[in-house]
Amino acid sequence: MSLDHILNDLAGHVQHLIDEGETTVEMNPNLLRALRQPSGGVPQPQRAAAPTTTRASPQAPPPSPRTAPLITPATAGAAPYAQFGSTPQLDAIAARIAACQNCTLCQKRTQVVPGQGNPHPELVFVGEGPGEDEDLQGLAFVGRAGQLLTRMILAMGLAREEVWIGNVVKCRPPGNRAPAPEEMDACLPYLREQLTQLKPKVIVALGATAVKGLLNVPTGITKLRGQWLQFEGIDLMPTFHPSYLLRGGGEGKARYWEVWEDLCAVLQKLGRPVPERKPGKS
Ligand code: URA
Repeated sequence: MSLDHILNDLAGHVQHLIDEGETTVEMNPNLLRALRQPSGGVPQPQRAAAPTTTRASPQAPPPSPRTAPLITPATAGAAPYAQFGSTPQLDAIAARIAACQNCTLCQKRTQVVPGQGNPHPELVFVGEGPGEDEDLQGLAFVGRAGQLLTRMILAMGLAREEVWIGNVVKCRPPGNRAPAPEEMDACLPYLREQLTQLKPKVIVALGATAVKGLLNVPTGITKLRGQWLQFEGIDLMPTFHPSYLLRGGGEGKARYWEVWEDLCAVLQKLGRPVPERKPGKS
């Protein structure tokens, strides 16, 4: 939540780029502006800072009017998700999620994880369901997979506050198992309602379970990734889940570059600049 957290996360991202052989880093002025705010950010574990050269991107877009407010004294102390910005409609959905007992996942949850971020986003990321960290904090993608997702978002030239991040199911499946079809069916109406309010231009579905939950298609993620699909009229890009990448993804770094290709296609669809980072630099 603090500036320290943002800076630590940025340092982690820069370290990742250095690890991949980058010597300069292009920085979106929106991100720089966000960093100059007195407070705000995303909850991330501390990471070591790394020296690097930075230069502002000449083609970066002007500040987006859709950018979410950062945490302010007015939002501090609100429900975890609401600290990243909300609307009365999203709050009402979150309140129903908090009281939900439509499947057995409610029995073992510590907190519900409705999803959080910009309430007026161009871009929404949807994963499968909360893990242990998410269950404890009430926030989506705040564990290891979340750190990688944050790095991906930053690499896209976006800040985490600019997007909305959620899951197909809002309660943690015990032992981090994949949610069962009936659990996804019970929970999907909430995500559908949230998306109706959020009105994103693009959804990125992270992993096979998210794609199955959203679209109910039997095709595997390896076949589907990189192809534009639609969820209720919204363009949807399926790609691999960050956890799959962290586990090695079967193909090592090749999968990272496939995800990066998919995210570049998303940037193109949004009419945003596509950073020049090519496979083979690592
Ligand atoms: N994996 C997910 O699919 N969602 C989260 O929120 C965290 C990990």
